[in-house]
Amino acid sequence: MIMKKSVLFLRPYYGFNIHSDAHGELGMLDVSHNIYPDLTLLTAATVFSKDEKYKVRVIDAIIENAMLPDELLKQLENEAYDVVILKTTGQTVHSDLKLLEAIRGLMPEADIKICGLAAKILKKWLIANAPYINEAIEEPVDEYAMKYVGGKQRGFSELPMPDYTLVEYKNYRDEVKGVRLTLAGSRGCPMSCLYCPYKLYYAGYELRSTDHIIENIKKLVGLGADEIQFRDQYFSADRNKTKKLLEGIIEQGIKTRIVVETRLESLDEEMLQLMKEAGVGMICFGVESADTGLLSDYNSVKGEIKRVKELVDRAHLLGIDTMAFYMIGFPEETWDMARSTYELAEYLDTTYVHFNEYEHCRFDIGNTEYTPDLFQPFRNTAAIDYPSVLNVDEREYLAHIFELSYTMRTSYENSYRCMYRAFNDNRKAMERLSPLASDLDRLSEGVRELRKGGRVDP
Ligand code: SF4
Repeated sequence: MIMKKSVLFLRPYYGFNIHSDAHGELGMLDVSHNIYPDLTLLTAATVFSKDEKYKVRVIDAIIENAMLPDELLKQLENEAYDVVILKTTGQTVHSDLKLLEAIRGLMPEADIKICGLAAKILKKWLIANAPYINEAIEEPVDEYAMKYVGGKQRGFSELPMPDYTLVEYKNYRDEVKGVRLTLAGSRGCPMSCLYCPYKLYYAGYELRSTDHIIENIKKLVGLGADEIQFRDQYFSADRNKTKKLLEGIIEQGIKTRIVVETRLESLDEEMLQLMKEAGVGMICFGVESADTGLLSDYNSVKGEIKRVKELVDRAHLLGIDTMAFYMIGFPEETWDMARSTYELAEYLDTTYVHFNEYEHCRFDIGNTEYTPDLFQPFRNTAAIDYPSVLNVDEREYLAHIFELSYTMRTSYENSYRCMYRAFNDNRKAMERLSPLASDLDRLSEGVRELRKGGRVDP
């Protein structure tokens, strides 16, 4: 009989909703209660679980009753693993390191690994300063898993479908739409925008076969997903393949609501019609800035605004929602440039918008030894000093106020409830909990106190 190695995949929870496979897998704190899976981590666990040499446990703490780190450590006192793989993010790395140090105390012999883009950025520091960690994984952990288990390097296109039954997947929910599961038909992007964190993490651009994607969609529908979200960075980068996929979904009579992210300018009326028939309910796309000169300085090529507006209107006529992403606070951006971006958002009139603060992604990975202080606990922006017209408070203010104002166009109440209240609750939690990020007992207690005071954390 084979003695199986036990492997723990871990995504901890510290009172904040972290979308850990977003933003190039550097993570994104989300003030909503929409819980996303970490597709890469789950796929890595699937790779191990398919090999008879391994016994796999996945703890995704947010969907296990929002389990706090002290509760998690208590539980781990009674369990032992040969391998522990933790997914870290920029927002949680301080707490994650403390957690791994504590797990090392519980499991002195375990092979402890940390993954995610933050682990790649901090690798030099981790090797020199975190003796409780055996390995900082540089590549996406699912591709690493294929190498670890199969013994040779294989890319994204050979990954298995994620096995959602490894976790309580029905807790991955969109507050309005219900159970939302994710999949990836491609990884990476053929474009080269200089502000893109995905370019730091994914090597090149790879596609899955159409048959594989359709089987994956069927599997997710069979699990009871109310909505299926493609995590592809550029869903329609290959027009012919995208057409084939949409036609395949239609021919096979698959009925579900699909969300995709793409460059809107890569679509046309024919593609939008096909998307509608295939069940695409929302298209997300990046606009970033109204200033085309600024965008071209960042190697970002956008379509003509008049055409983008036509496509937005066409999508709405077909009953497809749109969500546009904007970025506020490029280093060169002035107040007036930011205002033009807001005016552009009003002109495009998408169903939803998201104004992100500009994130400086020019990390000198491999050469500079970054310390964890590069990241601010439970905040989306790294602590990098660079010349910028708008300072960090000004950027945060504008991104917040733009999103409030945009939501207010249709509903003052939604603007207050969804944006203002959620944002302020989050800010209070952040101010209270950030100083405790490296003290897991006090952090856990702090989250519980906030709950007692009325905070509904995700
Ligand atoms: S188009 Fe989007 S995913 Fe592609 S490089 Fe630009 S920002 Fe990144």
